Amino acid sequence: MNEVLIIGGGFSGLAAGVALAEHGRGVRLLEQKPHLGGRARSFLDPATGSVVDNGQHIFMGCYHATIRFLSTIGTLGRVRFQQHLTVHFLERNGRLTVFQCPGLPSPWHVLLGVLRSGSFAFKEKLEVLRLGGLLQWAKAMHHGSEKLSVREWLTRLGQSERLQRNFWDLLCIAALNEDPTVASAALFEHVLRLALFTSPEDSCLAIPAVGLSDVYVDAATAYIRARGGQVESGRSVAGLLVSEGRCRGVRLSSGEEIEAEIVLSAVPSFQLAGLLPGELIRLEPFFAPVISLRPAPIISINLWFDRALTELDFVGLRGTTIQWLFNKGKILGLGENYVSLVLSGAHRHIGRSKEELLATALLELGDLFPEARKAELHHSLIIKERFATFSPTWEAEQVRPPARTPVRGLYLAGDWTATGLPATIESAVQSGYTAAGAILNDC
Ligand SMILES: Cc1cc2nc3c(=O)[nH]c(=O)nc-3n(C[C@H](O)[C@H](O)[C@H](O)COP(=O)(O)OP(=O)(O)OC[C@H]3O[C@@H](n4cnc5c(N)ncnc54)[C@H](O)[C@@H]3O)c2cc1C
Repeated sequence: MNEVLIIGGGFSGLAAGVALAEHGRGVRLLEQKPHLGGRARSFLDPATGSVVDNGQHIFMGCYHATIRFLSTIGTLGRVRFQQHLTVHFLERNGRLTVFQCPGLPSPWHVLLGVLRSGSFAFKEKLEVLRLGGLLQWAKAMHHGSEKLSVREWLTRLGQSERLQRNFWDLLCIAALNEDPTVASAALFEHVLRLALFTSPEDSCLAIPAVGLSDVYVDAATAYIRARGGQVESGRSVAGLLVSEGRCRGVRLSSGEEIEAEIVLSAVPSFQLAGLLPGELIRLEPFFAPVISLRPAPIISINLWFDRALTELDFVGLRGTTIQWLFNKGKILGLGENYVSLVLSGAHRHIGRSKEELLATALLELGDLFPEARKAELHHSLIIKERFATFSPTWEAEQVRPPARTPVRGLYLAGDWTATGLPATIESAVQSGYTAAGAILNDC
């Protein structure tokens, strides 16, 4: 049977490789970087020796494809799942509240969680319950509203400006990596249904207890190799060989050509643009998204202090520029006073200097945590991911492509393809499985 040539060693490429190898198909995976993992990877910080992720990644109980992938490669235990959905919120004045859902069937776990939470004023609880009721028992998205932004949709559904700012905006930016004023309401509604209104298990958050690469990179590689496949890093594909409507292989940056009857591209949209022959992008509307999808950035501010700031694993921040704090020292259990701050949908901040971002973070931490005012900063590491995800606008949702392409022998995977999910690990893994399924079915 024909070997499948996969381009890209992120979650999507590795998941596809594992799924194909599982079914006895030959796999050859090429990754341009010296390391695998793509936009979800970890490395050792030379200054501290700490394991640092390129950005904190959160998983959820509703990541069913990801859970299946990690179970197959034997690493699911490296991700720690909550028993019940629990999120702490800290306001700039230091007020801490918790939103915790009890172990009741859906939707009662969320509804009771909202009623009991100190994170909402009484009137806001009624607003959240109203929206929850619409999602659960009625069709919240009315005909013609699919083009709305999250902001327009929430306002139409009677969510006050304060509740949006303090709750929905945090969820929207965390889940979609985009500002509610431009993010697609239809996509947000879909995510809310999956995450909050399916089952209490699906609502739980999960955090890797190890560096991100240790969650899947080596185990997936070993799985593919144990079944006769090859995984090669430092192998940059310069272009796809396409003639007479058929993909015949790839050309590497070294000039070497590799022939293949089946090629699966698992690279981000903006990188696929450089691999496709120019006339295909111009003449074949199927490939329009490779030029029309816009990126959305994420900034991670990693800080090492001389003391602990909080006992919490993570906390959502209200009234600040930074949105989430993750207590990495505690999560990784390495006894370090190391925290990672997240700034998603960071269009307005990506151009700021690292010094400015650090100054903002320290100022805000001083307001949020009394310990931060006394703490000494030992080290900082700021990571700007300019192309963290695609920007999930309504327009973007219309052009995301399926796995099968009009070019025979060429398939697509990646978090940006038509999974119906925002650009997440789950979207990447699902896309890898879908593409593998299409290949197994077609060839
Ligand atoms: C800072 C940050 C935080 C995030 N937080 C979360 C989160 O909390 N939860 C969540 O679910 N998701 C999160 N995401 C999104 C998640 O990381 C991505 O959706 C997922 O990793 C995408 O996987 P992928 O395989 O589709 O693409 P990628 O990971 O980008 O993999 C593509 C691979 O292809 C390789 N490649 C590209 N061009 C070539 C070429 N020409 N030749 C060979 N190889 C090539 C690249 O080097 C890369 O390794 C976050 C992303 C970032 C950046």
